[in-house]
Amino acid sequence: MTTVKTLNTFPELGLIPQLLARLSELEYLQPTPIQAHVIPSILEGRDLIAGANTGSGKTAAFALPILQQLDADTKAQSKNGNYVSRLILVPTRELAKQVADSIKSYAVHFNGAYKTVSVFGGVSTNKQMLALRGGTDILVATPGRLLDLISSNAIKLDMVKTLVLDEADRMLSLGFTDELAALLKLMPTKKQTLLFSATFPEAVTTLTTSLLNNPIEVQLQSADESTLVQRVFMANKGEKTALLAYLIQQHKWRKALIFVNAKRHCDHLAQKLAKRGITAEVFHGDKGQGARNRVLDAFKSGEIEVLIATDIAARGLDIEKLPVVINFDLPRSPADYMHRIGRSGRAGEVGLAISMIDQEDFHHFKVIEKKNKFSLEREEVEGFELHEPFNESKVDKPMAKPAGTGKKKRKKQSQINADIWLNRG
Ligand code: AMP
Repeated sequence: MTTVKTLNTFPELGLIPQLLARLSELEYLQPTPIQAHVIPSILEGRDLIAGANTGSGKTAAFALPILQQLDADTKAQSKNGNYVSRLILVPTRELAKQVADSIKSYAVHFNGAYKTVSVFGGVSTNKQMLALRGGTDILVATPGRLLDLISSNAIKLDMVKTLVLDEADRMLSLGFTDELAALLKLMPTKKQTLLFSATFPEAVTTLTTSLLNNPIEVQLQSADESTLVQRVFMANKGEKTALLAYLIQQHKWRKALIFVNAKRHCDHLAQKLAKRGITAEVFHGDKGQGARNRVLDAFKSGEIEVLIATDIAARGLDIEKLPVVINFDLPRSPADYMHRIGRSGRAGEVGLAISMIDQEDFHHFKVIEKKNKFSLEREEVEGFELHEPFNESKVDKPMAKPAGTGKKKRKKQSQINADIWLNRG
């Protein structure tokens, strides 16, 4: 894969005036690296595999050429009543709505010529069925709900000309493999396929080999140091919350997204921060759609200083210019670490990714560093000095057990990592 750094101008990418006018209204001064690299290839009709995080500008990277292609071919295409012309599959309902909103915004100068609909689970199907009536030019969907709608004959996929798999790694890790396979069978083989993924685990690689035809491959640096600063703070056991509150207040962080690993930790941490004078809200799957939207709006407007979320709930949240992402609990997998920090330093903004580690996180953070090929200096904060230095042997003991073959050893090691993780307070 190539590493991309080139920046061009939007007119140089071959975009049409309706789109250029909108980009200048949105004050997108220049394409982000992913946009500069993929837009011309998508316009040429090539398949694509792109390694890009949320925040890289990937939505516009596929949405702009898709709108341009629609504009070029819409008159020529004969359509049946429940057609879909361009299909974008996403892992979560938040992402479905955000992608559809972005597309509608990019399309304003086409004067409503192209219908964009988003469908996702967790809400009634009736409104969505109604919205799909008469066909849809661009459909943004989560896989499960799309299958439901197909089985009720609300939509057919046999006219799909472009398929986008957005956040493919997350889609597969959320268990949508079977749904995806079922959906692919319902689409024409001849179509353009664009796959975006932050990471490339085996499941994604397998999918790309079977699905893509001579694709262009683009890999962006996911945590480019010029836009993202990563820091690690050490805390004594039981002092993480106090240290977090101190850091937030000391640095006057606003719009900080804090990650924890369990829904119940969200509420717990929010209460503890509230006691220390910090307005924090939680964002997790137990909240209804309306409540989630309200929290998100309040966070975006700055009314809420701090949002506490689990990985699953936060996935796909589009929060512009997020200045700080904090790993209060470390993510279980090194790939999730990259997903989380990818929410900061977006589209050229400078962002900050903080990890808070205590003795129990010590080894796990090293694994995260090793897998993601970076190494960070551990910082101590005045007033929160460690009572004793971190001691790797405390957590390493179970891993010293003899294991069999190299393969078995790796499996055992990951299992032990998971156990250590699950046993955390
Ligand atoms: P995405 O990675 O698609 O979630 O986009 C991240 C954010 O960057 C969104 O809020 C976009 O509105 C914004 N954005 C995308 N492309 C550009 C650009 N070329 N210039 C400025 N902002 C952009």
